[in-house]
Amino acid sequence: MTMTLPPVAKSFHTFCKKCDADRYHTVLAHTTATSAKIECEVCHSKKTYSLPKAGGSTVKKRATSGATKVRKNSHADEYNQLMMNRGDEKGIPFSIRTKFELDQKIDHPKFGAGFVKNVLADRVDVMFQDELKTLIHNKQ
Ligand SMILES: [Zn+2]
Repeated sequence: MTMTLPPVAKSFHTFCKKCDADRYHTVLAHTTATSAKIECEVCHSKKTYSLPKAGGSTVKKRATSGATKVRKNSHADEYNQLMMNRGDEKGIPFSIRTKFELDQKIDHPKFGAGFVKNVLADRVDVMFQDELKTLIHNKQ
């Protein structure tokens, strides 16, 4: 962002130390590229107004260290954990006619072992090793 001085003979709002308040000040002249002589419209005190220094930010950008966790396969850990705890559990053979319930272990002929993560009237979300799948169940 480039700051520019207000034009000469125009007024702008800035703090007046003498008034101890924000006042309109008339720009009398530009003294440098970044400062101007100004006069308070209330107390008529004259002062030099300087633009805040642009750029040159002193705050170093925080280095993005390896602390940022990037999880490639967000459910892999959860799946592995479930398999560790329940790997020996016999999965229920998957069938669209079976009504599954939350947390049940499923044995799917194509996708393998899965765990029911969400149950709707006619669909279940099942977490398999590679992906979360929505399958039809409870079909009459
Ligand atoms: Zn003033």
